[in-house]
Amino acid sequence: MNPLPINDDIDVIHFGSILEEIQEAIAKEEPEGQVAQYIPELAKVDPAKFGMHLCRLDGESYSIGDSDEKFSLQSITKVLTLTLAISLIGDKVWDRVGVEPSGSAFNSLTLLEVENGKPRNPLINSGALVIADILVSHLSDPKKDFLHFVRKLAGSADIHYNYQVAQSEKDWGYRNAALLNLMKSFGNVDNDIDTVLDLYFHMCSTEMSCAELSRTFLLYANGGKLVDTGERILSRSHTKRVNAIMQTCGFYDEAGEFSFKVGLPGKSGVGGGIVAIHPGQYSVAVWSPRLNRKGNSALGMLALERLTSLSGLSIF
Ligand code: GLU
Repeated sequence: MNPLPINDDIDVIHFGSILEEIQEAIAKEEPEGQVAQYIPELAKVDPAKFGMHLCRLDGESYSIGDSDEKFSLQSITKVLTLTLAISLIGDKVWDRVGVEPSGSAFNSLTLLEVENGKPRNPLINSGALVIADILVSHLSDPKKDFLHFVRKLAGSADIHYNYQVAQSEKDWGYRNAALLNLMKSFGNVDNDIDTVLDLYFHMCSTEMSCAELSRTFLLYANGGKLVDTGERILSRSHTKRVNAIMQTCGFYDEAGEFSFKVGLPGKSGVGGGIVAIHPGQYSVAVWSPRLNRKGNSALGMLALERLTSLSGLSIF
């Protein structure tokens, strides 16, 4: 076997050929895992879809497969709601939610009971529900304001909620309602349960293509500034913290495995999307709806593992 390259210069890397190589490798893989079943509307998605898009900070970009098709972002939006909450109340966010990996499933109730209703981190459901509660307290029209914020980060007005997905999740939202009720019993939820759930389900239903998603996350590769306008959304220090949380908590109970194999900060969602960033270099989004047993896109993980191995460019 040839040794893998180690690069510290992004300009010697041919991302176009690397993505083509990934596409060939993915086509040969046996399908593994299942499309998320617990949200009926998501279960209808074609499991064979696969797309990937990489944007460099200098504007170069590369695509393969269904990279322009929109999919449900689901938990990937937890990074965006966290960003909005930090921009509203700064470090006070950490009074309500921790920064430790949970080592349990995304929708687990167990730790909350023993940890007095303070979620381990903002990227699991309990944490994102507390963040949604903060947004309800500080925004005049939370659903509209969040969408407006996401459109600004994406640099596109063509980003929308999928109301059928939001309703489908509401119809089966017993665990999320349980998480909120439990946290409210500990005094860590200020607003009415249904109002917070409504924002949470809508935010999870936000749709983007891989191309739109990788552009949106360039912010985190660019030290907290929008690439197009230079507008600062997060301070450098807050950007470092959000990236650190993605690195340690972005993949449910598989954050260690993702760090080990891919070595980039990122976030997955049960819609089959994964976005990852290399600070100072690029942002990459991949979508393949079949999920492994931990709830992460099976082929998405594989594609990103190949990307960092073949490019030899690592943050470690
Ligand atoms: N809307 C999903 C839920 O709350 C998000 C889960 C995810 O993508 O991790 O169950």
